[in-house]
Amino acid sequence: MKRFDISLLCEPILKPLRILGYRIRHVWNRRKPLSGAIKVTGKDTPVSFHELGELYETLHDMAIRDPLTGIYNRALLFDRLKQLFVEYRRTPGRAGVLLIDLVRFKYVNDLLGHHTGDLLLKEVVERISGALRESDTLARLGGDEFVVILPDTDTEQAVQVGQKIIQAMHPVFEVEGHKLSASLSIGITLMPEHAEDVDTLLRNADYAMYLAKDNKQGYAVFDPSITDELTLARMTLDGILNEDIERNDLFLVYQPVLLTSTGEVSYLEALIRWRRPDGKILLPESFIRVAEKSGLIRQLSTWVIETACRELAVMQQDYPGLRTGINLSMHNLHDFKIMAKIQDSLDRYQLDPASLLLEITETGVMLDPDQVIKTLDQLAAKGLQLSIDDFGTGHSSLVYLKRLPVHTLKVDKSFVTDMDTDEENAFIIRATIDLAHSLGLTVTAEGVESGAVLYMLKGMGCDYYQGYYVSEPMSKDAMTKWLSQRRERMQ
Ligand code: C2E
Ligand code: MG
Ligand code: MG
Repeated sequence: MKRFDISLLCEPILKPLRILGYRIRHVWNRRKPLSGAIKVTGKDTPVSFHELGELYETLHDMAIRDPLTGIYNRALLFDRLKQLFVEYRRTPGRAGVLLIDLVRFKYVNDLLGHHTGDLLLKEVVERISGALRESDTLARLGGDEFVVILPDTDTEQAVQVGQKIIQAMHPVFEVEGHKLSASLSIGITLMPEHAEDVDTLLRNADYAMYLAKDNKQGYAVFDPSITDELTLARMTLDGILNEDIERNDLFLVYQPVLLTSTGEVSYLEALIRWRRPDGKILLPESFIRVAEKSGLIRQLSTWVIETACRELAVMQQDYPGLRTGINLSMHNLHDFKIMAKIQDSLDRYQLDPASLLLEITETGVMLDPDQVIKTLDQLAAKGLQLSIDDFGTGHSSLVYLKRLPVHTLKVDKSFVTDMDTDEENAFIIRATIDLAHSLGLTVTAEGVESGAVLYMLKGMGCDYYQGYYVSEPMSKDAMTKWLSQRRERMQ
């Protein structure tokens, strides 16, 4: 095969450039203006300086611009960020860096084709540009990801720009007869305070973007305290939730909640566990928060709902009327699909909605009461039992408590476990029980570890209890055995 000599292609470009370089140096030395055509060889067509300038511009643009949208490309972005880091080392200053991701852009490409996808991207870029100042830099990082650099900015201003960009997306896009909406997730970081190099900066912006995916605003500012946890979570949880659920890395254990008056089982609370490849079993405390922050809590909860329903259906064959309690994170209550997910699982396993209880942590409930109340109302209307978990650790307001369609307050174990020796805690529990009853709610005490505490709770009229005193959380099989032994004893 004949080999292609690249110098043949380059020569017509390089030669005039070489000559131009020579002439520039020449006229610069003699302080004379550069003019006229450059003759490359006696036979070649002369190349004007203007043409060369254009050629250079084109080559330069090719090197630094994204061909589709015309904005800067990844190479320029990295270069500019590097320069900024160097600059800020010399003279203190800071820039805001926004990582922007087009939510569900993949579907536009898949459903309407790449041509439409490309057109939408161009329009999105135009709107983003419209929200920026001339001194800002907009670059395409790749695919549907963009980065904006805002020089001389603080968090507040960076957030304002983020909001402006999000607002710019509100009017519907019209692309080739399709009415398309585009929503964005924006991760906001500040340099140099959030990172000392470009890779870390963009990774942190990516973390923030993940947070943004799970909140209503559509943007989030990077929080340095979450990096370690998130690295772990993104690397492992992501894999587990997306691919490896079959491997049983995640599983549920169950702990009974009993009626204080009779000792009957009211329901089994499902608690998640994560078995790591080294066999170590992680408690939810070490990964739920991470899942919440990384946005994976939705997939995780979907898995919990589905698994708890499947296992309940099996257990109900021996124990008709048995109920299960599922813990929900406040993030779930902002997920408008949560209702459908629960309904799906109930239908699939032919369960009565009243056989599911949802425990929602109090801090979560109070973060965005209006939204949460709306979702809770819908859930309650379906016949699901609702309780406020870890009651006493958040900042409940009685006003909201009255508006919440909940049935039970579950008092946090930190008040319960030592209430027989801690007078203040005993007082708090008594007051909570009175308050709940006056609002028409029942009360569950969690963390009951001794007979003395159970005795006190009975005296105070507490309705339900749960704790190591009667049973620790157990695997489904161990729980079934425990239930059958108890049934025999009770008969
Ligand atoms: P929680 O819902 O308040 O669950 C009660 C926690 O107290 C459980 O911890 C349980 O094992 C523990 N516990 C039960 N009895 C006693 C006792 O007598 N003494 C003491 N000291 N502790 C007791 P676990 O399983 O580690 O769960 C911790 C928290 O993680 C749960 O608190 C719940 O908020 C959350 N969680 C568990 N599973 C899930 C889940 O599937 N989804 C979500 N979003 N959160 C979950
Ligand atoms: Mg709970
Ligand atoms: Mg609790």
